[in-house]
Amino acid sequence: MINQTLLQWIQQSPLPKLETRLLLQHITGYTRAQLLTRDTEKLPENQAIELHNLIERRKCGEPIAYILGEREFYGRNFRVSPAVLIPRPETEHLLEAALCRLPENGTLWDLGTGSGIIAISAKLERPDVLVFASDVSDDALQIAQSNAHNLGADVAFGQGWWFQAAGHFRLPECGCDVIVSNPPYIEQHDGHLAQGDLRFEPPHALTDFADGLAHIREIAAQAPDYLKENAWLMLEHGYNQGQAVREILQQNGFRNVATLPDLAGLDRVSVGQFQAA
Ligand code: GLN
Repeated sequence: MINQTLLQWIQQSPLPKLETRLLLQHITGYTRAQLLTRDTEKLPENQAIELHNLIERRKCGEPIAYILGEREFYGRNFRVSPAVLIPRPETEHLLEAALCRLPENGTLWDLGTGSGIIAISAKLERPDVLVFASDVSDDALQIAQSNAHNLGADVAFGQGWWFQAAGHFRLPECGCDVIVSNPPYIEQHDGHLAQGDLRFEPPHALTDFADGLAHIREIAAQAPDYLKENAWLMLEHGYNQGQAVREILQQNGFRNVATLPDLAGLDRVSVGQFQAA
């Protein structure tokens, strides 16, 4: 079996063909096109053993993003590790909601940046904007910083629990134009936590170990201290939390509160504009 051609590896793998191809590309360094034209080649023994091991890990459910050590988000590759949540396509809606509300030369703060996808993508899409990113986890910040470095994004990073990170970087005194967060919003008893990729992701990045809204309440209550008048708070949340999140935003002085659907038409991102009473 170790002596198979690349095509045989793909055909005989217990994994979906796409996943086997990704693992093969990872091991050989070939592009997808190279893999197609070299499918009669055989792997050197050490690579064949490595591929076999990666297939076994994937068979045990380990997320392909952690095995490869990377995941694409908004057209760029980001390094990931089990210290950070795996980037999800749904989060691209949150990024786009932020991009279209950011004024020229504005300021954005990404709270709980994880691998840094939102902050880094925002900076690369909008180099005029000043971007801050924080996380409570040092391990996550290291991944985010290496992503910013590799992708050439100038983002200021700080460590701390939600807004406590403000002490670690110099936000403009007048406040931010956009505060964005994809916080841990899964309710602690949600069965999804025991399924699929979620079993391997950092629990504190997924759930608040409460009703799913604890972090959203905390962020919405404190964000006004860091926002300019009429600036936006934008939060990703679960498909069934839209109404609850809108209410939390309204109770904390946000106006023009709205929920934006994802591509599946589900509630995914809620936004509100801060207006001092
Ligand atoms: N901001 C990161 C993301 O959107 C991490 C989010 C998290 O860990 N909850 O993927």
